[in-house]
Amino acid sequence: MLVTALGVGLTLLAPSLDATSTRIRYTMQGGEVLSDLAAQYGTAEEDLLRENPGKLERGRVLTIAATRLPPPRQRLKVTAGERDDWASIAERYGVQAEDLRTWNPRASQRKRLRRGTSLVMWLPSGATHYPLPEDATGFPEVPKPHSGESVGRPNRGRLVDGVALPAGPYVIRFDWQKFGSALTVWNLARVLRAFRAETGFEGELFVGAMSRRNGRRLRPHRSHQSGRDVDVRLPAMPHAEGFKLEIDEVDWHATWALVDAFVRTGDVQVIFLERKLRRRLKRAGLALGADDERIARVLGSVRHSPGHTAHIHVRFQCAANEAQCRD
Ligand SMILES: [Zn+2]
Repeated sequence: MLVTALGVGLTLLAPSLDATSTRIRYTMQGGEVLSDLAAQYGTAEEDLLRENPGKLERGRVLTIAATRLPPPRQRLKVTAGERDDWASIAERYGVQAEDLRTWNPRASQRKRLRRGTSLVMWLPSGATHYPLPEDATGFPEVPKPHSGESVGRPNRGRLVDGVALPAGPYVIRFDWQKFGSALTVWNLARVLRAFRAETGFEGELFVGAMSRRNGRRLRPHRSHQSGRDVDVRLPAMPHAEGFKLEIDEVDWHATWALVDAFVRTGDVQVIFLERKLRRRLKRAGLALGADDERIARVLGSVRHSPGHTAHIHVRFQCAANEAQCRD
């Protein structure tokens, strides 16, 4: 039995008929109580059933007309090690052992957890809340820098009076390459602040290579020469430690919110990311209620570039007053 509609559920106000809703995709984890699910997303159980006819079982992707958006969880696969038991794995990832068993019904039928058993778990993102897409428009006030002019191309260019990225709710990895054009630094500072405020993400945000104060060649990069390129490490799940990021440690829901915030500035030319990661980004967007138009807009700015698996490389446009800036 994977889903029961018999749970008492949370007593919440039934959504009114005209409540604005956002369609999200929800992947069933197993063990959900349908009435709870309906209550969490602010929808009616009947609507949920009508929209999703057929068997409701683990792995099924539901469409939910949500009027509120609890943080979705991200699926993670782990392999049980030599000394692992249910409790140790649960503790390592900050979940309840009971939930872990519910998510893995077959493995939990055995007496003991065997080494090498592959387990599925559903982890909360480091972001605690998300704006429903229509609310996500504002950026905090950040003063516009006066200097910082991009000249030439990202692969063959320079920066005049580069602006240093000011300290903020992020870690600047390299002091001598934290410079950019006025438009770049201004947008970067407000996007990272907006991302924090909108999602409550408290993990580290690492800003890597930008440009040198006067731009030009920045080894080992080809671009990063004209003050318009920024590397930002992808937000990590809470269980990830250290700077190095494995693919299963990426917080895709937070990453979606971050990329979406960059695109919303209207000043991004392109965001580089490995092709194989697009799907994860898209899935996260769907889980967070992005509609087709928004998905297309965000993914339309994302372009494949090999090696961009742990960070995004954001390239901003030339500013209107940068007469010598070239694409
Ligand atoms: Zn880069």
